Amino acid sequence: MTTKDKGRAESSGLAIMGGTFDPVHNGHLRTAVEILDRYHYSALKLVPCYQPVHKGWPGVSPAQRLEMAKLAVSGDDRLSVDSREMDRQGPSYSVDTLRDIRSEIGPDESLIMVLGMDSFLSLPTWQDWQELVQYAHILVVSRPGWEPDLISELGAFCENYRAASSHELQCAPSGRVWFETLTPLGISSSMIRALARKNESIAYLLPEPVQKYIEEHQLYR
Ligand code: ATP
Ligand code: MG
Repeated sequence: MTTKDKGRAESSGLAIMGGTFDPVHNGHLRTAVEILDRYHYSALKLVPCYQPVHKGWPGVSPAQRLEMAKLAVSGDDRLSVDSREMDRQGPSYSVDTLRDIRSEIGPDESLIMVLGMDSFLSLPTWQDWQELVQYAHILVVSRPGWEPDLISELGAFCENYRAASSHELQCAPSGRVWFETLTPLGISSSMIRALARKNESIAYLLPEPVQKYIEEHQLYR
């Protein structure tokens, strides 16, 4: 057994990261690997939404966003893509997805939903948001430009569920909120779409196979 395999044998917890991934980029991927390295969760799945609930329809098709996400994770066997929201179609509510995954993995395994700070701040607008912690923990990661402005209901929510240590996320299956500061990467999908529209380079902001896919299919022009 290699040292890496040994680490994996001791790892536990399934992390998931939802998003529009329009397109997936190194901000998503670096977040994913830093979380995995720091916490030794056994795997992290990207869950591309079919129909975003809080923004309009993306300009590229769901199948293309899914394809790009798959290309992006091909280099790390801890990463994979979960296509259940694509298969389900309709508006992609995280609460449905978490309930679904929870029923698949059983009641005991730790499930961690990773959210960037911007997404977390919008949580009170999500469908049945208070229910999310019944199914998973919430791991909030820093994102350049977003400060933890935890007021009113979100503040109260954090007071109720904030973990005393990150370890709690591995000891219980769900129910805790934890904040983590990661390497700041000021990359967004909107920025990549804007560069492509202006015919400027998107190199080094996202994996090369995804860049090639965008160029070949002339996306975001
Ligand atoms: P858009 O600009 O179209 O909104 P985006 O870059 O925010 O796209 P999403 O697919 O909306 O990407 O984000 C999916 C998840 O990844 C969200 O939880 C978001 O907060 C997080 N995320 C995206 N980019 C970063 C980043 N650079 N650093 C940390 N978290 C990020
Ligand atoms: Mg976003």
